[in-house]
Amino acid sequence: MRRPIHNILLVYPEVPQNTYWSYKHTMPFLNKKSAMPPLGLITVASHLPGHLSLRLVDMNVAPLRDEDLLWADAVFVSAMIIQKDSFARVVSRATAMGALVVAGGPYPSGSHEEIHGVDHFILGEAEEIIGPFMQDLLAGNARFLYKSEGKPSLETTRVPRFDLLNFNAYASMSVQYSRGCPFHCEFCDIWKVYGNKPRLKSVPDILKELDALYALGWNGAVFIVDDNFIGNKARVKKELLPALISWQKAHKYPFRFYTEASINMAEDDALLALMRDAAFNEVFIGIETPSAECLSETGKIQNLKTDMAAAVAKIKSYGFEVMAGFILGFDSDTEDIADRQIAFIQKTGIPRAMVGLLTALPGTDLYNRLKREGRILRASSGNNTDCGAANFVTRMDPEKLREGYCRVLGAIYDEDLKSYFSRCNTVLDQTAGLPYASRDIRWHEVKILFRSLARQPFTPYGWQYLKFVARNLVRHTGSIAEVIKFTVIGHHMHYVTRQTLRAARLEAAEA
Ligand code: SF4
Repeated sequence: MRRPIHNILLVYPEVPQNTYWSYKHTMPFLNKKSAMPPLGLITVASHLPGHLSLRLVDMNVAPLRDEDLLWADAVFVSAMIIQKDSFARVVSRATAMGALVVAGGPYPSGSHEEIHGVDHFILGEAEEIIGPFMQDLLAGNARFLYKSEGKPSLETTRVPRFDLLNFNAYASMSVQYSRGCPFHCEFCDIWKVYGNKPRLKSVPDILKELDALYALGWNGAVFIVDDNFIGNKARVKKELLPALISWQKAHKYPFRFYTEASINMAEDDALLALMRDAAFNEVFIGIETPSAECLSETGKIQNLKTDMAAAVAKIKSYGFEVMAGFILGFDSDTEDIADRQIAFIQKTGIPRAMVGLLTALPGTDLYNRLKREGRILRASSGNNTDCGAANFVTRMDPEKLREGYCRVLGAIYDEDLKSYFSRCNTVLDQTAGLPYASRDIRWHEVKILFRSLARQPFTPYGWQYLKFVARNLVRHTGSIAEVIKFTVIGHHMHYVTRQTLRAARLEAAEA
């Protein structure tokens, strides 16, 4: 007999530390615990009945204590595939403590058949199903599985429960403006899950979220988590960005925005100028590969239509740091692909190049094609920097692919970080004097600089670090905040690369 539901514990499992995206090894310099908060869980929390008591444990910030599990009548756990090991441990501990377990998020939504120990699944987008589920749960007759069939309007979503977060623990806050993407990249699950027609929040709703963050005292970076921020470019330009600019001006620019967007943003000067004026200073772009054959194979038409190096330079000319994703393992990859990737990344001056092996995620066109071809080997680990090899039979010899992949990582995040700092210098030279790349240093950034100076000169890359800092203290006095940012991010990239390459060497030796 289950106990009545009064206390709900929301749990976000641990993200493995040694992934580029975690930025875990940058956090000690910032005196923070995690790069960003669990936006999905605090959005779900905003849809729960107001009479329930809620607690949030983000395990990337604080341990999950037995007393939290004992307090909880129900544990709501949300995870991405990369968190699946920690997710399984949470489920098993919660079940052992007698709590009811409710699971949702991308991992359960894509793979619930392989998950055991969960009492109820909330699959897909929660907005339309969380209400009926909670009604049934509180009435004691909830079903095992609730699945969102349609694509809910984002106009019904509520302001996430930012108040459940410990703001001091995070380097950045997050908001979401849209879901969906108009493109059809073969490896991508975003357009399959969220649709090709981007759904948008209303401008007043997104401003309410900024108001909530501001009222709670947030001042700093805000990640707009949309997979393609410019999915509906016309409305972004006409409605959202002018409103963001007015809001920022009225509040004296407390936030710096960053987001993800497709490379066609470079075609639109008016868009870039509006984003600059709203205080965007970083953008992530899926470049994937310099090979036209691979872009064509994977249906990345927007990249094929443009000169990608020129597009990156154009975006930077508005003061943005361009971060980018790169992939090896396409069927059309040739043996020189590693060298071509290294040359492209270095030439275009992209400090944060997230290079991964192609992964076949369930539900994607890629997965379905490879399945038809009998080439799927195993479920994806969700970690595309896992040198253990792709989860499908690659056209390239797996050993050559692994060797090439490791070579790219070892070259762009080299032992002394010379090539990394060289790319940072390129960005600083290209964005010098532009707004938000060039701004007054804040007190917390001075403290980061001191923590960095106390540690980074004594690392294996210490000499290049000192040269980088000295060069830019002289040349780019207006960009010191960016200089500091690049140094502490470089530490994380260096650490994760060494771990990844070590693991790859061990696996190769064991094979
Ligand atoms: S542009 Fe990005 S989000 Fe859109 S389908 Fe391609 S990879 Fe997915």
